[in-house]
Amino acid sequence: MNDIKEIFSLVRDISENDKIAIQKAYDFAKEKHIEHKRKSGEPYFNHLFGTAKNIASLGMDTETIVAGFIHDTIEDTGVLPEVVENEFGKEVLFLVEGVTKLGKIKYQGTNRYNESMRKLFVAMAQDIRVLIIKLCDRLNNMQTLQHVPKEKQMRIAKETLEIYAPLAYRLGIKTLQRELEDLSFSYVYPKEYEEIKKIIKKKKDEVEKHLDNFEKSLKKELAKNGVTEFRMDHRVKSLYSLYKKLQKYKWDVESIYDISALRVTVKEVADCYRILGVVHGAWRPLPGRIKDYIASPKLNGYKSIHTTIFTGDGGIIEVQIRTEEMHNEAEYGVASHLSYKAGKKTTNWIQEMVEFQKEAGDDFLEHAKKDFFEERIFVFTPIGDVIDLPKDSTVIDFAYNIHTDVGNHIVGAKINGKFSAITTVLQSGDRVEVETKKNAKPNKKWLENCKTTLARRRINHYLENIK
Ligand code: MN
Repeated sequence: MNDIKEIFSLVRDISENDKIAIQKAYDFAKEKHIEHKRKSGEPYFNHLFGTAKNIASLGMDTETIVAGFIHDTIEDTGVLPEVVENEFGKEVLFLVEGVTKLGKIKYQGTNRYNESMRKLFVAMAQDIRVLIIKLCDRLNNMQTLQHVPKEKQMRIAKETLEIYAPLAYRLGIKTLQRELEDLSFSYVYPKEYEEIKKIIKKKKDEVEKHLDNFEKSLKKELAKNGVTEFRMDHRVKSLYSLYKKLQKYKWDVESIYDISALRVTVKEVADCYRILGVVHGAWRPLPGRIKDYIASPKLNGYKSIHTTIFTGDGGIIEVQIRTEEMHNEAEYGVASHLSYKAGKKTTNWIQEMVEFQKEAGDDFLEHAKKDFFEERIFVFTPIGDVIDLPKDSTVIDFAYNIHTDVGNHIVGAKINGKFSAITTVLQSGDRVEVETKKNAKPNKKWLENCKTTLARRRINHYLENIK
């Protein structure tokens, strides 16, 4: 247990220096937390090792893994920040302090809690790796939640489902989202969880048999067409996402075709279309279920081709075709970029969230949940960039989201090619082209016709400065 080789094996192209740094953090954490036990009686170090391992699984850099080992050291063992800096450097100290400042996000009344969440958003705007450590810390807490008193389990699991899993989704880290959701699901909706498990168990055998047969036939078909370089595997839908889908489909299991799917991974984009051609040449696709997310990626950036075909022996199977790169991006999102270049990449919505929390009152969290996780729309610039905004945003919000200067001088817009007022409420999928004039300027009325805190701040700023 807690074998450091497990972590080494998760780091791609690990160097001797990486090994030395990780080993040092391992030893340091073990020594500093030696007296420290979890509520279950097991050594606290298990939690640190678990967190670091989760971080390594995402392919994160050495500094983040090191910070994972010592993320609780300053707060729980009284080690001074200077010591951490001397031993591990400035960058690691920054990450550890980022996580430390968040505190334990304990629920001690709504205000305290909101305060912690605010800190979380501020910290992650500075360096997204702080959030990734926090998510991996939470994942380990969820992995060991059975040791926590019953009355606390529900609260922690609910919070994971409502806040942490959506954050993982927003970062595009699918593996993390899936794990967080499925672990929370069993605590928050135990009955439904058992029900879904039963459904998957029952369907899985049937579908797997079809998949095995189909996989063989497809390999033959591909060989016949000279396609030899690819990887094939099955993926089973996660429990929570099946639960959500079943709710949408009125619990009609038979209408859900992607409980399991066959995944074909290739090198080049052109290979994806070639394989799609082979699949459709040999099997009849279900009409309306061919989705080219390569040409038109999903709003969170997901790319792949999906098609559902009749296998000919009574079965129906979903086939997903993508490149290795798309696969990594889909599973690891932001983390897949960070592993190459440690960076402070933040996204639009994180910046917006930071702006937002500066102004919001005590009901910050309720608003944040609504504005940032549930009700978002996604609109397009004329060149196809995606801008995401809270629901009910107008052209004014869109313009300020692009640039303050654009916002300040907007006079009109074309929405999907049609001339529209700047107060028009946008819908997901709209293509928006704004029109500006040099002498145009904001007025008070605009404040009633915008939704985002960003736009409101900029307009107020302008109005205050002309007085
Ligand atoms: Mn922790």
